Amino acid sequence: MKRVHNFSAGPAALPAEVLKKVQTELLDYKGKGRSIMEMSHRSPEYSEIHEQAGEKLKKLLNAGEGWNVLFLTGGASTQFMMIPMNVLNKERTADYINTGSWSTKAIKEAKYFGNVHVPYSSEDLNFTRVPTDNDLNLSDHATYLHFTSNNTIFGTQFPKEPASNGAPLVCDASSDFLSRPVDLDRYGVIYAGAQKNLGPAGVTIVMIHDRFLENVLPDPKPTILKYQTHLEKMFNTPPVFAVYTVNYVLDWISEKGGVNAFAEINEEKASLLYNEIDRDEFYRGTAEKASRSRMNVTFRLSSEELEAEFLKEAADEDLVTLKGHRSVGGIRASIYNACDMESVQTLVSFMNDFRDRKG
Ligand SMILES: *Cc1c(COP(=O)(O)O)cnc(C)c1O
Repeated sequence: MKRVHNFSAGPAALPAEVLKKVQTELLDYKGKGRSIMEMSHRSPEYSEIHEQAGEKLKKLLNAGEGWNVLFLTGGASTQFMMIPMNVLNKERTADYINTGSWSTKAIKEAKYFGNVHVPYSSEDLNFTRVPTDNDLNLSDHATYLHFTSNNTIFGTQFPKEPASNGAPLVCDASSDFLSRPVDLDRYGVIYAGAQKNLGPAGVTIVMIHDRFLENVLPDPKPTILKYQTHLEKMFNTPPVFAVYTVNYVLDWISEKGGVNAFAEINEEKASLLYNEIDRDEFYRGTAEKASRSRMNVTFRLSSEELEAEFLKEAADEDLVTLKGHRSVGGIRASIYNACDMESVQTLVSFMNDFRDRKG
């Protein structure tokens, strides 16, 4: 058996330790003679996992009083609609910073429910940057300020939370959740599809604060899209296998030193790649330097032919899924928490060697 160096943007690499653990429990979970996938979601075994995962998540983020954790389905894309459905109407306005395709999609959905003001958009710059606080033209009484902390496709990332005029932040953190600490006091909601940095596809983590719930409209419908429905009890069958795996990924993060430790390692991994890119003109980073992502490193070579050669030769060295998103082209190395230093070092030495031969 061999494991490749996996730079997939999502569903992305998972820690080998976690996969092994899952493998050992697949036929017989804790002496029950069946896997966790084959038990009731109301069984004591699964209930314990569900509860523990929520508690571990809060602990990793130092979340204080008032934070609720939900494990929902429908992907981050469902949250694009669920958030405004619960709190926006035609009398209210939400601010949405537009820094890429995912923000654009979130804006489209919010407009079905209420007023949307866009305090900043980098669309005319092909989303190559995120705003500084001075760039933001915020509205006065926004119900919330929505931003996408890391732009998976364009390779940009907010270096810190944007300024907000006191409006609570609502964040799509799908591609950098738990890659670094966050200033939770400023958030109302933080949500993330698990398949980038947290686990397998199928579960969306939604952290929502009691403060934010005060904004919820009297009786939003339909039932399954109301946050209250899921806060009261486990309303329907959660994605048990995904939550079970996320629970082990959370253990793994905490064993490795938690989000602060990952922030450092991720910074180091990204620096290795950006240093290689910046060495000369052979590789060209696509994002503005101050906006560069530590999760998705995007770059181009001098021609599409050379990029195709790069991808092919990389794959021959087991460096896989490095192709950029179809809307951007070029190369994208996604280096989430589970992509280890050794994979990044192997990629950097391949890049160095490729430049020596083709430059
Ligand atoms: C992948 C991604 C999404 C879409 O997530 P789904 O779970 O497929 O709906 C949304 N936002 C960001 C930032 C992403 O990276």
